[in-house]
Amino acid sequence: LHNTIQELKGNIRVFCRVRPLLVDETLGTDGVIPHINFPDTKEQKMLEIEKVGDAALNESTVSARRGGNNCQGKFDFSFDRVFAPDSTQAQVFEEISQLVQSVLDGYNVCIFAYGQTGSGKTHTMEGGSDNAAENRGMIPRAVAQIFQTGRELEEKGWKYTFEASFLEIYNETIRDLLGNGKDDQKYDIKMTGSNSNDVMVTNLTLVPVSSENQVHSLLEKASHNRAVAETKCNERSSRSHSVFRLKLTGSNELTGEGCQGTLNLIDLAGSERLKESGSEGQRLKETQAINKSLSNLGNVIMALANKESHIPYRNSKLTYLLQNSLGGNSKTLMFVNISPKEENIQETLCSLRFATKVNQC
Ligand code: ADP
Ligand code: MG
Repeated sequence: LHNTIQELKGNIRVFCRVRPLLVDETLGTDGVIPHINFPDTKEQKMLEIEKVGDAALNESTVSARRGGNNCQGKFDFSFDRVFAPDSTQAQVFEEISQLVQSVLDGYNVCIFAYGQTGSGKTHTMEGGSDNAAENRGMIPRAVAQIFQTGRELEEKGWKYTFEASFLEIYNETIRDLLGNGKDDQKYDIKMTGSNSNDVMVTNLTLVPVSSENQVHSLLEKASHNRAVAETKCNERSSRSHSVFRLKLTGSNELTGEGCQGTLNLIDLAGSERLKESGSEGQRLKETQAINKSLSNLGNVIMALANKESHIPYRNSKLTYLLQNSLGGNSKTLMFVNISPKEENIQETLCSLRFATKVNQC
């Protein structure tokens, strides 16, 4: 249509991002991350995790070894793109900007952030907590670009309207992050549209938006609503998925064309392996819900890649909600965020292994 669409290899791309060591983490190590290497500085597609002679590498991580590398404790991974700790938000966004642009061509796009708690998912998606312009994350940048391009296309007869929503899935229950803060509504996922091909959530707040500032206040409202919920349940935000959705409808008064597209930006629950043994009650329920929905996301992506006749969308709220933005004519990108801390090496390997499976789709 009005944008050269980058043809994607397969349906899904995977980008790995390593966050930098934080100020209080760099002490004593001179800011160097000893166990993560970036062997192809030009291509920026490879990552090498190396840890020799340490009990941290047990049997389960050894099976994560990749690339026919026989050196004990050395693991090679390759992705569509690897971002080293010094990558800026602007550099990361540059690599997703074409994908974001395709929403204006009527594509449904999903961008996920996957990784353990503290690996930089929220920083990548929403941005730094300091509100500095250069630290703005993918959500504000994507929205700004879509608005900007939408305005440019007005010259060619296009008129767009935009609607935003922001929700959280916690324990398989949906909560409106743009609501009045009272949890007094029931949010159900329903299929609508002429061919039952549109997904809607009952009672969910849909906000018409046309400027970046409006979206900025929505993000603030969501973060306020999350903070309120967090006082009732500690660590809630790391145990829930949050889905920011921008839906656009366009019509061209010169050509009579129309189009609809949806951008979904998803900050997933922390992927750290949670043990069911020992936890009980609420904690056990949470653990099971996270394990189930993250593994189901993987299952759905793999079933789509294998062109299976049954795609288990309905096995979790997240995939049910995203079912018309995954597979088919939609585009998916996953960030696997990893921590530079040596003590996190096991989780890092687990995340990279999951991402490698997704990347092979
Ligand atoms: P997650 O959402 O995965 O739990 P966060 O995004 O909250 O992780 O990141 C954990 C900490 O690391 C936060 O203090 C965040 O500001 C910081 N951080 C993450 N990524 C970056 C980055 N690329 N540059 C600077 N600080 C970062
Ligand atoms: Mg987070």
